[in-house]
Amino acid sequence: MSTKDVALDWISENSTRIIEISDKIWEYAELPLKEYKSSNLLMSELQKHGYKVTRGVADLPTAFIASYGEGEPVIGILGEYDALPGLSQKPIPRKEPLKNGAPGHGCGHNIHGTSGIAAAIAVKTAIEKDAHGSVKFFGCPAEETVIGKVFMVQEGVFDNVDTVLSHHPGSMNAADLLSTNAMNSVKFHFKGIAAHAASSPDQGKSALDAVELMNTGVNFLREHVIQEARIHYVIEDGGKAPNIVPSRANSWYYIRAPERWQVESIYNKVLNIAKGADLMVGTTHEVQFITGTHNKLPNVKLSELVTENMRMIGAPEYSKEELDFAKKIADTIPLEEKKNALKKKKILQWEKLVDVVIDTSIHEPWGLGETLTASTDVGDVSWKTPTIEFWTATYPLGIPGHSWQKVAVSKTSLGHKSLIFAAKVLAGSAIDLLTNNTLLKEVHTAFLESKKNKIYKSPLPPDAKPPIPD
Ligand SMILES: [Zn+2]
Repeated sequence: MSTKDVALDWISENSTRIIEISDKIWEYAELPLKEYKSSNLLMSELQKHGYKVTRGVADLPTAFIASYGEGEPVIGILGEYDALPGLSQKPIPRKEPLKNGAPGHGCGHNIHGTSGIAAAIAVKTAIEKDAHGSVKFFGCPAEETVIGKVFMVQEGVFDNVDTVLSHHPGSMNAADLLSTNAMNSVKFHFKGIAAHAASSPDQGKSALDAVELMNTGVNFLREHVIQEARIHYVIEDGGKAPNIVPSRANSWYYIRAPERWQVESIYNKVLNIAKGADLMVGTTHEVQFITGTHNKLPNVKLSELVTENMRMIGAPEYSKEELDFAKKIADTIPLEEKKNALKKKKILQWEKLVDVVIDTSIHEPWGLGETLTASTDVGDVSWKTPTIEFWTATYPLGIPGHSWQKVAVSKTSLGHKSLIFAAKVLAGSAIDLLTNNTLLKEVHTAFLESKKNKIYKSPLPPDAKPPIPD
């Protein structure tokens, strides 16, 4: 039996336990930087199988590294496990919260973390049999707020890792070459003077006015930024009562663009607009830099490797009940929305997928030079070491990200099948990299080509600390 077969068999034989872990994390549904139960479950499973665990890396209490093996090469596997606020949902094909207002796994990170540990343990069984090198599983918190991996990269935890593999549940089996937007996440805290809003407004300076004038300025800026940029904000605090001129108010901005330097250029304009708001109102303000991230660098060789492994293993097939469930979920989305969702993936001949409910094909990598509008902290890892983030078909095509539909599917057999498939693809690809030095060199050459001689600089200020909630 080949080393790869040893790993793949381990996953098949242990699929009940793997699914149980994914479903448990789905039930925990913990918010970013609060994923204590989820990270503990993943850590204890890895320890049980001989992994050495270091918890609380990079000042992140729910981040961890689990290591097995000795020497080179060092293959990294990423796992995420944070949920999203307000998305609680039962695993049924109609909108019905499990618990009103509670968080839910609307990005499938219960599957994400679990496919990673299952692959790590499977690869360990193969190393024991007949392979050499090391595996490091990176437990990455707070992906949804784009925090975890940026701080982990700044701490240097990926510095001596030869390559990194990451899976994410999606609607296609694909290792595409699309990039993601670079981003800054920043809060603006304005300070004014409180006064009676009716009897002495002339003595007040409204921090809320400054927030609103800043937003107006930024809304005018939109016409004068590159087409691909995205700027969005919320007002976190707009004052306490209408009869008091607000002395404090704050907004929270995301600024996104395809490249880091484009984000920084727009960000500098936004900083000036905030100063302009102060001049108009007579307030002062502080800038709180929460996090930033780079665009994701594709790796052609890793995409090919993952695609080959997908084909070798074979995509899951579905029963009539599973297809009926998928159809009910798919029918909650109007056809126009589905068409737009497919078009946004920038895949050639997307029209052919319009009538497909759940996509069982394995796509050739596509999208080199194209950028998706969302951002991920996998971007920063991809600038440190060759990295692939691939997708397995979990959700019916056209279902939006961060939705009740995704929460529902993430705990059904559709989710379970994509989890087992992904774990096998991760394990198979990791074993190829551990046992084929020429392949690893080609992956590294592709990495240097995609970096184009640019040097990585953390978007974080040197003294930045992660915003750990109380
Ligand atoms: Zn996600």
